Amino acid sequence: MPRPIRATVSSGAFVHNFQAVRRHAGAAKVWAVIKANAYGHGLERAARALAGADGFAILDFQEAARLRLAGVAKPLLMLEGFFKAADVALLHKYALTPVIHNAEQVEILRRSDLPGEIDVYIKVNSGMNRLGFTVDSLRLAYNALRMHPQVRSVTAMTHFADADGASGVKAQLEWFDELTQQIDGLSQAPRSLANSAALIRFPETRADWVRPGIMLYGCSPFSDSPAEALGLRPAMTLASEIIATQHLQPGERVGYGFSYEAAGEITIGVVACGYADGYPRHAPSGTPVLVNDKRTRTVGRVSMDMICVDISDIPEAYIGTPVTLWGEGLSADEVAASAGTVSYQLLCALAPRVPVAEVP
Ligand SMILES: *Cc1c(COP(=O)(O)O)cnc(C)c1O
Repeated sequence: MPRPIRATVSSGAFVHNFQAVRRHAGAAKVWAVIKANAYGHGLERAARALAGADGFAILDFQEAARLRLAGVAKPLLMLEGFFKAADVALLHKYALTPVIHNAEQVEILRRSDLPGEIDVYIKVNSGMNRLGFTVDSLRLAYNALRMHPQVRSVTAMTHFADADGASGVKAQLEWFDELTQQIDGLSQAPRSLANSAALIRFPETRADWVRPGIMLYGCSPFSDSPAEALGLRPAMTLASEIIATQHLQPGERVGYGFSYEAAGEITIGVVACGYADGYPRHAPSGTPVLVNDKRTRTVGRVSMDMICVDISDIPEAYIGTPVTLWGEGLSADEVAASAGTVSYQLLCALAPRVPVAEVP
C-alpha cells in the first residue's frame, strides 16, 4: 500500500465557486486564473471543471500547450506575455492573448511578422510598480501595438496591489483612469482590472473582464473574512492518516529540535504528512488539524514526512484514523494564517508525490 496521504479535488466545489464568481461579475466576462498548475489543483482538471469560464489565464507556454492538447478552445491569456522573440510564433500557433508589459516585448512584436492576427492586453502600471507602462511609455507602447497590422485588439489591464487590504483600489483605479484617458483610443478600449479581492469588495472594478483566481479554489483573498462567509467551498482537501501513536509523560519532548515539551501527560498521533508533501515547515505547534473530523493541533516541528498531533482528547484515534490537514472542514486559510502565510502558498506547494483524486 502507498503512504496514506492523498489530496482530493472537487469538481462540484469548482462549479459552485464559479457560480459565485458569475454572481459578482455581473455582465463582465471571466478569465479563470489557472496559473501555477491551477494553484496546485491540476491544470487540465481545473479547466474541465471551470468549463463555464470565458477564458483561462496562465503564465507558461507549456501550460498553454497542455490546455490546447486537452482540447481547450477558449481564449488563453498569458499573464506575463512572452519572454523571447522565439516565443512569438507560439502566440499564433496556440491562439494566445499576451499581456504586453514592457518595451522589449513591444519591440519584438513590432519586428515580427505574425502569420495571423492576435489579441493583446496592454498592462498599465497604476501603482503596484511590478509590471506595466506609465505615462509616456504607455502612449508609445499603445500606439505601436495599435499600428501593428496583426494586432486585432488591445485591452487595457491593470493589477491591484492591495484590494484585500487597507488601501483598497481607489488610488490605483483613479490613476488607471487618468493614464488611459490621456491616450486616444485607449480610453475606449476594453478593460480588465479585478482579481478575486477586487471582484468581491469593489464592484466598480468589474469592467469588461475579471480575473479571479483564489476564490475559484474556495479560499478567501481576505485575512478578515473566511471563505465560508463568502459562500465559497474548498476545492482541495489534503488528508492522511495516523501511522503511530506515543504516550508522553510530563517533561518528555517531541520531534526535531525537541521544540515541544509535554506539560502534562499527552497522547501524540504521528501523521503521514510532512513538508515534502507540501505542508508548511514553519507551521508552529498549535496549528489546527482535524483527527477523525475533530479539531486538534500540531505539536513539535514539522518534519519531511511526518507531523505530530495532540490526540489526548480523541480517545478513538489510533493507527489508521483519518486526518484532514486542510480543505473540507478546516480551511487552508486558517492553516496558512497559523503558519504565517497565505492559502495560495499552501495550495501551490502541494508536492508531486501526493496522489490527487477527483471527486464530485
Ligand atoms: C494571479 C493573478 C490574478 C488572480 O489573483 P487572485 O488573488 O488569486 O484572485 C489576477 N490577475 C493577475 C495579473 C494575476 O497575476
